[in-house]
Amino acid sequence: MKVLKESQGGQQAAVTAEDLALINLLSRKELKEEDVYVFSLRLCDNEVDRDQERFAPQTLEELSRLFVGKSGIFDHQWSARGQAARIYKTEVIFQPERTTKAGDGYCWLKGWAYMARTEGSKDLIAEIEAGIKKEVSVGCAVEQSVCSICGADLRKGQCGHKKGEYYDGKLCYASLEGASDAYEFSFVAVPAQPEAGVVKGAGSARTLKDLVRKNPGLAGELEQLEREAEAGRQYRKELKEETVRLGLLAGLGMERELLLGMTEKLSLAELTALKEAWGAKAARRYPICPQLEYGEKSGQPDSRDGAFLI
Ligand SMILES: [Zn+2]
Repeated sequence: MKVLKESQGGQQAAVTAEDLALINLLSRKELKEEDVYVFSLRLCDNEVDRDQERFAPQTLEELSRLFVGKSGIFDHQWSARGQAARIYKTEVIFQPERTTKAGDGYCWLKGWAYMARTEGSKDLIAEIEAGIKKEVSVGCAVEQSVCSICGADLRKGQCGHKKGEYYDGKLCYASLEGASDAYEFSFVAVPAQPEAGVVKGAGSARTLKDLVRKNPGLAGELEQLEREAEAGRQYRKELKEETVRLGLLAGLGMERELLLGMTEKLSLAELTALKEAWGAKAARRYPICPQLEYGEKSGQPDSRDGAFLI
């Protein structure tokens, strides 16, 4: 079962000799302290989230091993320039003084990531430092979604317990257990949106834009679609205007507003057909002098078709 969670990240961290050694285990070329930028991020925790799911502390431990060496990608703009960060160290942080909704001591998985300091990454580092790149989306695979009430696998839906409901005062939630893999994380710019909601993968994205936010790699496709949609809207607008203009010329006896309203709900094919029909009618009325078009609006009301109009 694939799980995708959001969290927060982007706190600058100091580079110690120990860090540098860990980084160099992963890096292709030997990096010096001044070559790397290091920051920490909150990958996931054991709090029950909006989906009434939580990672069991044991799962966080498992994930801590799986996340080392995993890359993080930035939004499209940055990914296109080949910017990536890599997790080189993780640690489960226990904060027993804080209690989760499930009544356990709070713990979370902290990751440290590095990226090469280059001319190209300067602006990105500035954004991380300014706290603009805050939201982290992490993906992993877990084997079980355990019912907190009876211990059955909730995905099988056999125990009848519903996530989010209380049974004898106990909250039913899914405990995500048995981490088997961790995937790339993505770093998304979320200006001024503190503690953004926990949203999971494509399944829960409400709009294409949400989807792209979780999957920055799709941004190019969305941009292309948006350009095409814009071109389509422009074409439709022009077609509508031309149809209305011909409708006026055709002497249908209807005001511009009414004609506009009529074209509003038509498909492109219907609009095209209407444009042709009204164009033919207009051409019959003004076979020779197209200039008359301009005089028509203020011109004489047409009586020929008037009889057929309600
Ligand atoms: Zn159950």
